[in-house]
Amino acid sequence: MTPDRTLSGLLSMDDKVALVTGGAGGIGSAVVRMLLSAGAQVASVDLPGARHVEGARGFECDVGNRSAIPALFDGFEARFDRLDVLVHCAGIARDAVLWKMDGNDWSDVLRANLDSAFFVLKEAAPRMRRQGSGTVVLVSSINGERGKFGQSNYAASKAGLIGLGRTAARELGRFGVRVNIIAPGLIDTPMTASLPDAARQQAESETVLGNAGRPEDVAHAVLFMVSAMSGHITGQILRVDGGQLMA
Ligand code: NAD
Repeated sequence: MTPDRTLSGLLSMDDKVALVTGGAGGIGSAVVRMLLSAGAQVASVDLPGARHVEGARGFECDVGNRSAIPALFDGFEARFDRLDVLVHCAGIARDAVLWKMDGNDWSDVLRANLDSAFFVLKEAAPRMRRQGSGTVVLVSSINGERGKFGQSNYAASKAGLIGLGRTAARELGRFGVRVNIIAPGLIDTPMTASLPDAARQQAESETVLGNAGRPEDVAHAVLFMVSAMSGHITGQILRVDGGQLMA
């Protein structure tokens, strides 16, 4: 079949199956809505009790728990017969300066943000390899690139996603699978709702656009990165940060 090179054809997710971790969160739910509106069937994975976007198929799973992953993919495969798009949005923050950081806060954040990406990618990779196609987006953070006061655990996990994503891009490229990283700056979501005013003002003042981003800003970048629109882009970091980090 000749590929549809019209604008809507390039962005279309018709006939695609997507799995979004953290799909009930601020950014994750915007991504789920965007993929649904582009025509995809969407599996939204989040912790038990989360409220999923209407139209998506919700799955309960702690993706940082290795032993929970096989049941997640069994459930996924009972419902869907392929996996075209993986977007890893699940994440948490537990901030403290490193000399006060509790060891559990270190390992919980690494587990939820980074181990989870490895567990899910390890399942997705052979499926996409077999298909000879697939697109992956790992949601990192500009703080994984620059470091951030009080976020040694979070920044390390987000830097790890960059190494993981670029390695996966190298390993999977010849099978027609693209892997990219999106690095948001400050985005208005439940994760950032409790930021102290001073921290929020500082982050906003770091941007050149002068304001925090919206979850939809990230979702638009995700759609670009998983669609045919970005067909020759892999192993890249796309910042959605209003110019907060320029380097
Ligand atoms: P959020 O708290 O609204 O969403 C995170 C979602 O992940 C929640 O629904 C949560 O239940 C889910 N989750 C957490 N741990 C999980 C686990 N172990 N298994 C399954 N689901 C889990 O936060 P958000 O701002 O939408 O963040 C989404 C992603 O974007 C995160 O990875 C975050 O680090 C990243 N990010 C956010 C910002 C920002 O400013 N909001 C900036 C940079 C990066």
